[in-house]
Amino acid sequence: MIFLKTEDEIELMRAANLLVADTLAEIAKVIRPGVTTKQLDHLAEEYIRDHGAVPTFKGFPNPYGGPFPSSICASVNDEVVHGIPNDRPLKDGDIVSVDCGTLLEGYNGDSCYTFCVGEVSAEVKRLLKVTKESLYAGIKAALSGKRIGDIGYTIQRHCESNGYGVVKEFVGHGIGKAMHEEPAVPNYGRKGSGVLIKDGLCIAIEPMITLGSPDIMMMPDRWTIKTRDGKWAAHFEHTIAVHQGRADILSSFDEIEKVEGKLY
Ligand code: MG
Ligand code: MG
Repeated sequence: MIFLKTEDEIELMRAANLLVADTLAEIAKVIRPGVTTKQLDHLAEEYIRDHGAVPTFKGFPNPYGGPFPSSICASVNDEVVHGIPNDRPLKDGDIVSVDCGTLLEGYNGDSCYTFCVGEVSAEVKRLLKVTKESLYAGIKAALSGKRIGDIGYTIQRHCESNGYGVVKEFVGHGIGKAMHEEPAVPNYGRKGSGVLIKDGLCIAIEPMITLGSPDIMMMPDRWTIKTRDGKWAAHFEHTIAVHQGRADILSSFDEIEKVEGKLY
């Protein structure tokens, strides 16, 4: 079932998503070589709870194993998604995608940003740039009267034409009172295929893009997903609402980008 949202619900979702945005901006302030992803996780959990929300990822059930232990997913370098924060210090030249979710007044926020740690290679910066561009291109394609496949088609074409891989096993999703609702929002697809996009549709769009092959594997922790070929991956995510025919971005990278400056 797809749950279309009222304008009031969309405003509640905006609040939850702006809290995610602010949490990621707090993380942006402290990311540097030597910091551990566990430190980032503690910061995120405290910030979210201090603002009256719940970190939705913590305790999230897993069909393959135990519940997720942390408040953020922190996926470093060849880790694509669902990395578990740990005590390994980040190194100069690493990238780390931080995915974060909040539940605020009954509605969910979900957004992800891939950060640079110190000075990152030009090859990897280009991957980040193209992945972020593909997210915004996908968002632009989310128009009333178009279909979910138009979003995926747009993302896939942009990334593959730049020589990158599009992960197929994990996809974006509807979002609202539950973090994951219908419809699935793949980062690939055919023009004009899939669910019709209508005003009130709220979805998370989240390209997961690889420097090499898009083939992935699951680590023994039953959460962390890595590329099979060991090449690095990027992940950016916004939650959007379709409103008056076009996408209204409910999450935001504005504060993160202010902290980061122009990286690429
Ligand atoms: Mg997410
Ligand atoms: Mg998501």
